[in-house]
Amino acid sequence: MRVYNFSAGPAQLPLPVLERASAELTDWAGSGMSVLEVSHRGKDFVACAADAEAALRRIMGIPEGYRVLFLQGGASAQFAAIPMNLTAEGDTAAYLNTGQWSAKAIKEARNQGLDVVVAADESASSYTTTPAPGSYEVPASARYLHYTPNETIGGVEFPGIPDVEAPLVADFSSTILSRPLDVSRFGLIYAGAQKNMGPSGLAVVIVREDLLGRARPTTPGVLDYTRMAAADSMLNTPPTFAIYLLGLIAHWIEDGGGLAAMGERNLAKAGLLYSAIDDSDLYTNPVEERSRSWMNIPFTLADPALDAEFLAGAQDAGLTNLKGHRSVGGMRASIYNAMPIEGVRALIDYMTDFERTRA
Ligand SMILES: *Cc1c(COP(=O)(O)O)cnc(C)c1O
Repeated sequence: MRVYNFSAGPAQLPLPVLERASAELTDWAGSGMSVLEVSHRGKDFVACAADAEAALRRIMGIPEGYRVLFLQGGASAQFAAIPMNLTAEGDTAAYLNTGQWSAKAIKEARNQGLDVVVAADESASSYTTTPAPGSYEVPASARYLHYTPNETIGGVEFPGIPDVEAPLVADFSSTILSRPLDVSRFGLIYAGAQKNMGPSGLAVVIVREDLLGRARPTTPGVLDYTRMAAADSMLNTPPTFAIYLLGLIAHWIEDGGGLAAMGERNLAKAGLLYSAIDDSDLYTNPVEERSRSWMNIPFTLADPALDAEFLAGAQDAGLTNLKGHRSVGGMRASIYNAMPIEGVRALIDYMTDFERTRA
């Protein structure tokens, strides 16, 4: 029996995708082998990777002049790879700090000898806010502005795209593919796959071509965007199964009406859950209204002594992985693309019932 899995990542995947992958696992495309067992340089897998990229380009509307890279080491490897590829040691770049993932990106960038200017820092609000447009300045010397559109732990999401001169570099790990996005606003978009795009380990990097060709000479080949772009992300053995699954997910989104339809569903799901939280006396979401995430919704119970009972009852009801991040406490419901609205309704029914009988 499938449960409704509210994990922040690796997260629930679409059932039709899992069913198809499982049906193809011993005999893929009539080859008598699985996709796990074929050469990444063979024509079948090369076509599979090209199809995954083409499907991603179609659903995201990625314009000409951008390269799509399939890399390894997750989003975290990109925290270091970005300064290696876009800056020289001692250069300046600006970062917006809206949570734990931004903070990690800043730390890794400093580690690469980057002069990081933290243009906005939301730690004073315990990361429950995003900076208002126009409330921060990006130094003219900044090679780029880095931000985290959706902070997975705090459940804090930028309501719009920052409007700045410097190239925008964004960690879209937990919100990519959740709705339409104007890729042309960005210099570089990156995301670990395990929230909305597939299995962990794979990172997708979408980079504007004019930003290539600047990697520091010491950059490892597998992290060098220019070299990886020239090699179609196959300088070494790529994560073949993850790329295959990413392709299946991109087709699943396309067949379901694309990112516009996905965005409508996600907005409806988040709206239902925030209303249920706001209408109750037991549950609270700490995030300022304009910055509430569509994907990760933390909430606390008025009496934390009820947390264990809430979680045990949820588990019994087939609602799993609701325990909040240790730094925030309480609960966190991650409702990525693969979470159907029925799962959100089931959670709300459980929450309402729990409040009625325990509070
Ligand atoms: C999950 C996540 C990461 C880390 O991804 P890894 O694949 O574990 O490196 C980075 N940034 C954000 C916003 C995330 O949600």
